Order: sequence, then structure tokens, then C-alpha cells
Amino acid sequence: MLDQTEHILRQLIGFPTVSADSNLELIHYVASLLEDVGAKIELQHDATRKKANLFATIGPDIAGGIVLSGHSDVVPVSDQNWRTDPFTLEKEDGRYYGRGTCDMKGFIAATLAMAPTFAAHQLKRPIHFAFTYDEEVGCLGAQDLVQILGHRPHLPAAAIVGEPTDMKIVEGHKGCCEYSVYFEGHAGHGSMPDHGVNAAEYATRYVSKLLELREALKGRAPKDSPFDPPWTTINVGRIEGGTAHNVICNHAEVDWEMRPIAQDDADWVNGILQSFCQDDLLPNMRKIWPDSNITTRTIGEVIGLTPLRSNEARDIVVALTGSNDSHFVPFGTEAGLFQELGIATIVCGPGSIEQAHKADEFLEIGQLKQCLTMLDKLAHSMKAA
Ligand SMILES: [Zn+2]
Repeated sequence: MLDQTEHILRQLIGFPTVSADSNLELIHYVASLLEDVGAKIELQHDATRKKANLFATIGPDIAGGIVLSGHSDVVPVSDQNWRTDPFTLEKEDGRYYGRGTCDMKGFIAATLAMAPTFAAHQLKRPIHFAFTYDEEVGCLGAQDLVQILGHRPHLPAAAIVGEPTDMKIVEGHKGCCEYSVYFEGHAGHGSMPDHGVNAAEYATRYVSKLLELREALKGRAPKDSPFDPPWTTINVGRIEGGTAHNVICNHAEVDWEMRPIAQDDADWVNGILQSFCQDDLLPNMRKIWPDSNITTRTIGEVIGLTPLRSNEARDIVVALTGSNDSHFVPFGTEAGLFQELGIATIVCGPGSIEQAHKADEFLEIGQLKQCLTMLDKLAHSMKAA
């Protein structure tokens, strides 16, 4: 099974599916492998038709299936100093090297190598393969995929998202929301500040509000929050604006991010900011200059994975791997999107996030073996009696 996985991984690494580029060659290759074992394949293209999600099913067409989820895209290699060609799989010292080996084509290769085993069993519940595009740039493909799944008469029951966790069971991570806020004021001579609308000053008030909220969020975290730090955080990442010392600043921008521990916090922050702009800042700006404006652009809103008392995906993987620890990670994944649909979801996959996104990204072969063992047990546990 390892040889077959390595063969598939070699093909997958050979498709340079950087998020900015098409993933269709990879998706068509994966579709052909799954078609060969009789899986039902569905492709869902994006608006450019250069990228697609693949959703495939082996087993009965009923509710209660298990989703094996991975993203097909990888981060760029530009500005990285690789020892080898990042899009050619190299095997060395018990490791596979190449862009995407751990994040996360190794997991995808393992699920595909196991597809004939799944197909050979009479499964009592379906296995689904969900491979998306544009995860690395805001989980765009997964957002489209869950929209379609949500309209189905029957939903899968559980999902395993195979992002690299060293094969540990991760049942929670924070979300990640990024915003750019533009302030448009009215220029004038610096000696007459009351005759203009100073965008930098309004941006400053906005940033002060963000800092106030950041403190308040600490008090909202539950006592048993498993995250580090335990509360929702806010970071101001970039502030820019203005022209010169003696000119009233007519434009300013603030880039900031929030990492919510729960959707509740994100809604609370966004609600307060919206009314702060509408009811406080904007009326004051427009008193002087009616065309003043504040525009908030959402760069990305990746929902978190909330740890739940009852989680069938965790129970399944605990039974398969025998490991019963709970882990929480600081990075975001597509898992929260599946959870939002009501699908029990965990993150568990081969390799370490330490190696992801870096030059000479690699996957330990031992990790891939562990993953294959888990999938093999999964296939057997789903056999109809
Ligand atoms: Zn990833």
C-alpha cells in the first residue's frame, strides 16, 4: 500500500497547484483514479472554470457517510530556497520532499491509495472524498462545497480533515477573520483642522475601539477555554494614510485581523464596529463633508472549529488509532465549515505543520504509514456485517 501511495503522491506533487493557478489537471487525475474503482464523482467549478472541487462517493447513496477532506492547492515556492525541485517528489532519509507533501497531498494520496480497499468492501455507510481548491487563500473552494452539501437531502455524519497534525486528533482551532477598512475624509490646510475631515484621526478612533474590544474580549472567554491564548484576539496589522505634515489627511487604511474562539465573539465585535461607524464616526465626518465614507472590505473569514462534548468524528478516530488525547492548534482549516453544516468534524493527518509552507517541505514516511493504517482500519470498521 505504501508503494501505491508513493506512486500517487509523486503524481500529485508533479501538478504545481499553487493557489493562484489551475488545479484541473490534478482534479482530473484524481477523478480518473476514483472512477476506476467505481466511485460516483462530482466536480464543482469556480467562476473562472480554471479550478474545481471534487466530491466523490464510494458505497451506498445514503446519509451518515464519512468525509475524507483535503485541499488540492499549495502555497507558492517563489522567494524560497529549495535544495531540490519542489514539484518533483524526492525520497531521502525516510522522508518525502516536495511542495505539498505534508500540506496536504500526502493525506490525499493515502486516501486515494485506499480507495480500491473501500470499494472492495460492502460499505454500510458511504465514504466521501472532498478535495477543494483555494484553501490557502481563504477556504474559498470549501465554502462553495458546503453550500452544495447543505442543499442535499442527506448529509454525511462525520468528517476527517487531513491537515498535518502528526496524526494527532485535533478537535478545535480558532477562526481567522481579516478586514481592510478605508476612511475617506476631506483634505484642507493643516492650519484649519475644523475645515476638513481628517481620515487619519477617524482611523485612529477606529483603532482605539479595536483595542478597547481586544481587552473586553478577554473577559468573554469561558473559564475552560482550551485555546492559547484562551480568548479571541485582535491584531492591528497595518495603518497607512495621509500626505504631509501640513495637509489634513483625506484617506487612511487600517488592516486588522481577529482570531475568534467562537462565532459569537466575531458577531459581537463586528456588530459593535458597525454601529460605531454608522452612529458615531460617520455622522461626525459627514457634518463637515457629506461625501465622507468608511468602507470595510472582508479579506477572509475562516470559521473556527469548536470543540464539542459529543463528536462522532473524534469517537471514530479514537477507536481507529487508540489515542484519546485532545489537541488544539493555532492554525485554521476547512473543518469549521463542515462543522457548521452539522457534520461532526476533527482534524487529523500525517506530517507536521512545522514543515508546511517552508522550503524543503517534507513528510516523514512513518507518518504516512500511520495514516494508511488508520484508513485501513476505517475501511474494515465500515464493512457491512
Ligand atoms: Zn493545509
